[in-house]
Amino acid sequence: MIHEILPVGPLRCNCSVIGDETTREAMVIDPGDDIEDVLAVIRKHNLQVKQIVITHAHIDHVGGAMKLRAATGAPILLNQNDYELLKMLDVQAAWIGVADPGKVEIDGSVSTGENVTAGSHTAQVLHTPGHTEGSICLYFAADKKLIAGDTLFAGSIGRTDLPGGSMQKIMRSLHDTVMALPDETVVVPGHGRLTTIGDERESNPFLVKQ
Ligand SMILES: [Zn+2]
Repeated sequence: MIHEILPVGPLRCNCSVIGDETTREAMVIDPGDDIEDVLAVIRKHNLQVKQIVITHAHIDHVGGAMKLRAATGAPILLNQNDYELLKMLDVQAAWIGVADPGKVEIDGSVSTGENVTAGSHTAQVLHTPGHTEGSICLYFAADKKLIAGDTLFAGSIGRTDLPGGSMQKIMRSLHDTVMALPDETVVVPGHGRLTTIGDERESNPFLVKQ
């Protein structure tokens, strides 16, 4: 598996480029900004982007999606429960003081039970509401890897005080879905350093059993 992680934009969102080393097919997850850098990685590995997957409709994760779609022709996928939040990109831009990226068009919704693929590499979509209503994680079972969006971080969990956020829902998503994964699963959070499910089970203050 080709997997490059680029922290993009002022909030350093972890954008993942995942490719198949044989077919050169790829997916890009959370192209929030700095699309020239993302395209440079795609060119470096000679990849063809087939899918653009957005873990949730916050501007730092979705802001560059239209630019990437224009450059690659790949469809943009987002869980439909975040379509309302996507209409507020101008408001979100004002919150963090960045330019409004304009309207982002979604080509299809993805949810639990569906897969996204980069050649031979398949990820199960896990709908994990809480940080936002439409937050998803992507679980590459064969590679024991989870792209967690802003649901789980090393030592923390996603904030739930923004529109669409729910502490009750994120805790349910974490306990029922995310922490049900094997301890050795490598977690790529939406921001910050990588971790594992086992490390978070042991030391994340939001998750350890009292
Ligand atoms: Zn977010």
